[in-house]
Amino acid sequence: MKIAVIGAGLTGLTAGYCLAKAGHTVDVFEESEYIGGLASAVEAGNGNLDRFYHHVFVSDTYLLDLTRELGIENKIKWYEPKNAIFIDNRIYPFTSPIDLLRFKPVDFLSRIRMGLLVLSAKFIRDYKSFESVTAKDWIVTRAGNECYEKIWGPLLSSKFDVDADSISGTWIWNKLKLRGSSRGKNISKERLGYMDEGFIVLADKLADKIREYSGSIKLSEPVNNLKRNASENWEVSTPKGSYEYDKVLFTAAPQLLVDICPEFSDEYKRKLRGLKYKSNICLILELNKPLSPYYWITVSEKNIPFVLIIEHTNLTGIKNYGSNIVYLSRYIDPGSSLYNISDERIIKHFIEGLKKVFPDFREEYIKNTRLNKARFAQPVITLNYQDKIPDIATPEQGLYLASMAQIHPEDRGLNYSVRLAKTASSLMLKGGL
Ligand SMILES: Cc1cc2nc3c(=O)[nH]c(=O)nc-3n(C[C@H](O)[C@H](O)[C@H](O)COP(=O)(O)OP(=O)(O)OC[C@H]3O[C@@H](n4cnc5c(N)ncnc54)[C@H](O)[C@@H]3O)c2cc1C
Repeated sequence: MKIAVIGAGLTGLTAGYCLAKAGHTVDVFEESEYIGGLASAVEAGNGNLDRFYHHVFVSDTYLLDLTRELGIENKIKWYEPKNAIFIDNRIYPFTSPIDLLRFKPVDFLSRIRMGLLVLSAKFIRDYKSFESVTAKDWIVTRAGNECYEKIWGPLLSSKFDVDADSISGTWIWNKLKLRGSSRGKNISKERLGYMDEGFIVLADKLADKIREYSGSIKLSEPVNNLKRNASENWEVSTPKGSYEYDKVLFTAAPQLLVDICPEFSDEYKRKLRGLKYKSNICLILELNKPLSPYYWITVSEKNIPFVLIIEHTNLTGIKNYGSNIVYLSRYIDPGSSLYNISDERIIKHFIEGLKKVFPDFREEYIKNTRLNKARFAQPVITLNYQDKIPDIATPEQGLYLASMAQIHPEDRGLNYSVRLAKTASSLMLKGGL
């Protein structure tokens, strides 16, 4: 078969690899001039750094198996992170159960209730009962209002901004379960993995394999139209030309598929457009000194414009970046004013915010700044999300959809992109012509 894959993020590249390896001719179309999508890279010092921060968990078996299959498993190095929360103008360590017990901003009984909630999540297998309860209601009922206001509310806001209170219980249950499984038997120590030279190493390897199997990666070729021609094949159009395929896999946000494919019914278009995404603003700072000993600081203060401080080099070490690398991140509505002001103003706001967390911080410490924005960064997991997810096979014969929005009950992530890509490619192969 001749197959077009739209999007050269991890989902598109993994699917392209699986389909090419199975003997089919694959072209991967990518609108930007680089591969990797959200897992693409930027240069920092003499090294490559993820454009948006990433780490993986020991339970990310689909991704780890893929690295083994590609012979790059030794590139993943494992680290023990130190985490913290910034609240009431103080940074509190928040890595181990002992840190939770010492966490003064909530009363002692609430801390115990919260500890029990976290522990119990690991043993709950059937998520269906969480689908119709908000994360907020679940936490308030089980651990009290204070826990929600001081810990989980800020964590949910750090991902979902103004939608935090309407996020499904399934999302938070899965996060608690995941963090539990990343600790293994020693619950006081978490292990996170990062790929030496960034996850672009994985993307590059997949792209090389696709080319080895006679496929191609077409960069700077946004697909702007998809339609069936007289011979019932798919015609894929980009500003550079039109191409014909037996099958097509679309891997970007579902609402983008509606924009380029006129064939769908109005009802199906509504379904795809109904899957909302948050955007992300991410400022990379290259500094000449560290900010703190922590890898991950959740910022629980409404007057600070970012919600996460990720000091990447506190996880991996300085390596050949030659600087201390910090990401300041904010998930946000694409229509909000902060998302739409100039990059210079965002950088200024973020640096002012950083001075509120670290009053001794001086702008002379900054060697370089780089602002990245992603319009489609995080699907918004609302109540009864399972019922809203479209199938991988679209109603149009030969056209398939594999997007972050279809990952459930787990949250989107590199591991699940690999799983989704494998499922989608098997389905496409099973279908035949
Ligand atoms: C801030 C941030 C932090 C994250 N941290 C982690 C983490 O720590 N661990 C983890 O596992 N995951 C993390 N993730 C999630 C992870 O990055 C994603 O789950 C994964 O990269 C999604 O891959 P994808 O291929 O599905 O989508 P994308 O990477 O979005 O790829 C879609 C591609 O399609 C292209 N495209 C769109 N429209 C068209 C078109 N018309 N024609 C051609 N191309 C098109 C886009 O340019 C893009 O390259 C993070 C994400 C963000 C935003």
